[in-house]
Amino acid sequence: MTTDRERILADNLAAVREDIAAAARAAGRDPADVRLVAVSKHHPAEDVAALHRAGQRVFGENYVQEACAKQDALADLDLEWHFIGGLQSNKAKFVAGRFAVVHSVDSIKLARVLHKKAGELNTVQRAMLQVNLCCEDQKCGILEEDVDALLEEALALDHLRIVGLMTMPWFCDQPERVRPVFSRLRELRDGLERRFGVRLPELSMGMTGDFVQAVLEGATLVRIGTRIFGPRL
Ligand SMILES: *Cc1c(COP(=O)(O)O)cnc(C)c1O
Repeated sequence: MTTDRERILADNLAAVREDIAAAARAAGRDPADVRLVAVSKHHPAEDVAALHRAGQRVFGENYVQEACAKQDALADLDLEWHFIGGLQSNKAKFVAGRFAVVHSVDSIKLARVLHKKAGELNTVQRAMLQVNLCCEDQKCGILEEDVDALLEEALALDHLRIVGLMTMPWFCDQPERVRPVFSRLRELRDGLERRFGVRLPELSMGMTGDFVQAVLEGATLVRIGTRIFGPRL
C-alpha cells in the first residue's frame, strides 16, 4: 500500500460521505440514516484495510470465494460484510452466518437455504428481497408481482429476518431515469409494510452513478464501489 493509494482512498471516501450527507439534508433526512456500503469486489484486502483506517466499517462483496478470502485475511478488523451479488442457492450455505446482511434474496429456494444454514449455525440471517423493477433480465431480482408471495414465505422462516428491499437498475448511468425506480421501490416497501403488518426499514438502492437520486428517494443503504476505489481491475 503506497501512501498515495491510501490518501486517494481516504479522500474518495470523505467526498462520497459529504455527497451522501448533502443529499440527505436536501431531502430533509438525517445523514446518519443513510449507511454507506463500500463495494470492494475486485479490489484487494489492503484497500479494505486502508478504508478501515479511514473509518469505514461496512463493505459489500459480490462473489462468495473472493469475499470469504478477504474476510479471512481481515478477520482481526471490526468489519461488517454485506453480500450484494447474485447468489445461487447451492452457494448460499457459504454465505449464511458470514455476512451481516444478504441484499439479494430473489427466490424462495434461496431463502430456504439461508434459513436452514443459519439454523444450523444457531443464528438469524438478515436479508433483503431484490426486486427487478426495470430490467428485462430475470436475473436482476424477482418481479414486482411476485414479491408478496416471496415475502409471505420468507416471513415464515424464523432463521431469516427480512429487513427491507433492494433494487439495481441497469441504466444507473442515467440518474434522471432511475429516480422513479427508486420511488417505486419505496412505495412498494410502504405497501408491503401495511399489508403484512411488518417493518421493512431498509432500502438498499443507489450506486456510483445514481446514489444522490437514491438518497433523495429514501435509500438507507447505498452501495458504492467505483467512486471510492476507482475502476475495477
Ligand atoms: C458492483 C455493484 C455495486 C457498485 O457499483 P459502482 O457503480 O461501482 O458503485 C453496487 N451494487 C451491486 C449489486 C453491484 O454488483
